[in-house]
Amino acid sequence: MSGGVGGVPLFQTFKRLLTVPNDNPELTLAQFKAFSRQVPLLYLILLTNMLSLAGTHQTSAPFWLVKVVPAVFAVLFVTRGIGWIRESRKAVDAAYAYRRLVATNRLVLPISLLSVAWSIALIPYGNDYQKAHVAFFMSITVIGVIFCLMHLRSAALMVTFLVILPFSIIMGLSGEPTLIATAVNMFLVSLAMVAIMLRHYADFTKLNEQRLTLLDQQTALKEKNREMQLLSDENLRLANLDSLTRIANRRSFFSNLASAFEHAQAEKTRLAIGVVDLDGFKPVNDLYGHSAGDKVLVEVADRLSAFDNAGCSIFRLGGDEFALLIDADGTDEKALVDLGQQVCASISQPIMIGNSVVHVTGSMGIAVYPDVGTNGQDLYEHADYALYNAKRENRASVVVFNARQAKALFRLRQVEEVLFAADLDRELSLAYQPIVDAVSGRTVGFEALARWTSPVLGPVSPAEFIPVAEQHGRINLITRLLLTRALKDAASWSGEPYLSFNLSPHDLAVEENVLRIIAAVNASGLAPGRINFEITETAIMHDFDQAIHSIELLRALGCQVSLDDFGTGYSSLNHVHKLPLSRIKIDRCFVDHIDERAASYKIVKSVLALCSEMGLMAIAEGVEREEEVRILRALGVDAMQGYYFSAPLPGDLVAARLKAESAVAVKAKDRMKSE
Ligand code: C2E
Ligand code: MG
Ligand code: MG
Repeated sequence: MSGGVGGVPLFQTFKRLLTVPNDNPELTLAQFKAFSRQVPLLYLILLTNMLSLAGTHQTSAPFWLVKVVPAVFAVLFVTRGIGWIRESRKAVDAAYAYRRLVATNRLVLPISLLSVAWSIALIPYGNDYQKAHVAFFMSITVIGVIFCLMHLRSAALMVTFLVILPFSIIMGLSGEPTLIATAVNMFLVSLAMVAIMLRHYADFTKLNEQRLTLLDQQTALKEKNREMQLLSDENLRLANLDSLTRIANRRSFFSNLASAFEHAQAEKTRLAIGVVDLDGFKPVNDLYGHSAGDKVLVEVADRLSAFDNAGCSIFRLGGDEFALLIDADGTDEKALVDLGQQVCASISQPIMIGNSVVHVTGSMGIAVYPDVGTNGQDLYEHADYALYNAKRENRASVVVFNARQAKALFRLRQVEEVLFAADLDRELSLAYQPIVDAVSGRTVGFEALARWTSPVLGPVSPAEFIPVAEQHGRINLITRLLLTRALKDAASWSGEPYLSFNLSPHDLAVEENVLRIIAAVNASGLAPGRINFEITETAIMHDFDQAIHSIELLRALGCQVSLDDFGTGYSSLNHVHKLPLSRIKIDRCFVDHIDERAASYKIVKSVLALCSEMGLMAIAEGVEREEEVRILRALGVDAMQGYYFSAPLPGDLVAARLKAESAVAVKAKDRMKSE
């Protein structure tokens, strides 16, 4: 019983050792690859050994043994050898490899038996040397074959036993001590060879497994890398996309611009940038709320996307600003303006927000390389400057950066640079322009106007340097400095005319600034009732609620507040009734030739009606001609200001003017008394 139980595993092991394994396709393939390279060598060894043995027995052995049999074997070995050379060059799969290995395993049996039988058949015909050659043939062949079959364990074992066993028996039976010693020797060497072969086979299997694990790891690593790459590609895509409108964003614009600019420079081609800004977007946000504003932006982005093609890419730069990157090769300025106008026209189509229809328009600034621009950023700044002009001069228009703007931009940069380094305390001064009562003609107030005399640039208009100071955060300092001086000057004026002082949007935007202004008024000792602050619509539009709050603070102090340049903004009438104002200054563009321009006349008339309805004083600015004075007076304006009465005066001439005026008044009084 026990022998049966022990015999089964032994038989199983034996069977396993003598069959080609088929549980690991990768191993089968590796075996096949290594094996197919060595089999041709195996046949070469067999062929040369056999021919050599046949050669030494030419004369002693029969014809069929030394000619016919070797010839048959030679043909078999050569064809098999060539077959395996071809095999080794083929790309095969595991199933095929397995089939070929099994076939080889089967072929080992007949070839081994026939070879052994042939060599044993030669023994009786040879002398001692020839017998020794047979023994040598057997030994060297078996060693060579074991080596060559190392990768096919079953075949190597089969050959060893099929050759060694019969050969040892025959040699042992010969009684010849040399042959017996050779057989024993060969037996022992073969055992050692088998041991080496088995170890090599185990190593080969292990190495192959390690290689497979490594391959698996590499595949996993590659897969992971691929996933990481996909993830980072997705991140990059999202990082370049505007989250609201889903079009390319500012970051994408500047990186595309940089490469497009490099390309244009290298290839000497033309490149254009169009920067678009919406007009009337802020009121939509204020009136309908931010989600309506978002819808407008999404709709505008959708409309702009219609212009996105191979030669033109669309981006959202942020807020209500968009950009176009245009391949302008072979395109002239007119074509670019046409494109810009089409873009603006598409933006200006009505937009439905729920049940409401809103209207926004777009302005566009264009800059073209190589006409301008030393790099991408520079080209963008030129387009942005053109946009600024488009908005300032004529809303909803397209402006291409040109030589005139280049000059203006150069000047702007110069002013920025010089203002930044200026000694404001020393270089700034004030001029005062009289404001006269429309009926009596007497000076009732003075508007303080900033004057900058730069040692580098000479006199610079406030219209030029105030916006620069506003943009670069120097305006608060200027306001504080000039207000303190103006308050001091006004305190010395006889007859108590009021001081009208211009404030910037920035002065009103932050409560802290307003509180500083209030502190300056309090410190001056001038009665707040003698102070009038002029604010512009831009200041109100900037932050409507904060503007109201700031105006309320100034009014609560007892100061007057006027809306300056009235009529130049687009939403004046919408806002004026909500503001706690005391005066309105009608812009000089309506005063200019009012006697000849019916439209101006009508506008001023209705503004005056509005003022009287709201209890506001109306002051006309920029009065230059007698006809204008006459009409304005007839229309019922309260006060006037302009070159007709006086240009802005240096501070020291104010007192003289007031003195002269009061002298005239005294004389007139005396005359009346004497009459
Ligand atoms: P504004 O407040 O509307 O001032 C009136 C401008 O019209 C002044 O120009 C004045 O010189 C000019 N002007 C007066 N009468 C006439 C006239 O009959 N015809 C013409 N064509 N112009 C006349 P100015 O002094 O160049 O000031 C320009 C603008 O700069 C001012 O417009 C005001 O907005 C701003 N500004 C001036 N000084 C200051 C200041 O101290 N602070 C702030 N924030 N802005 C100031
Ligand atoms: Mg003013
Ligand atoms: Mg004005």
